[in-house]
Amino acid sequence: MNLNIRVFLLKGVLRRFFLYMFNRAYIQKNTARRKGSCKRCGVCCRLFMTQCVYLRFENGRSSCIKYKGFRMPNCGIFPIDERDIKDRDALSNIPCGYYF
Ligand code: SF4
Repeated sequence: MNLNIRVFLLKGVLRRFFLYMFNRAYIQKNTARRKGSCKRCGVCCRLFMTQCVYLRFENGRSSCIKYKGFRMPNCGIFPIDERDIKDRDALSNIPCGYYF
């Protein structure tokens, strides 16, 4: 993956982190209008690094070995808004199960 895309994705990771820390009202407002459901493609688990160390695949579906334990805030709130969808779309042509 080229450096420009990696920097673009890192901005999104930081944006979600700061929203979680300082603007949860924005997160609540936007996730309330979110539609669809997760298809477990695992693309959002590759936004910060090549692939999250907790990500596993079985029969083509992703799962997180930390799902029932502690997860980073970014993981549980994704996608917050259209910008997050745009971020993950930089890595995959297959649409996210969520939409706005
Ligand atoms: S990119 Fe969307 S559909 Fe895929 S695992 Fe993440 S939230 Fe689920």
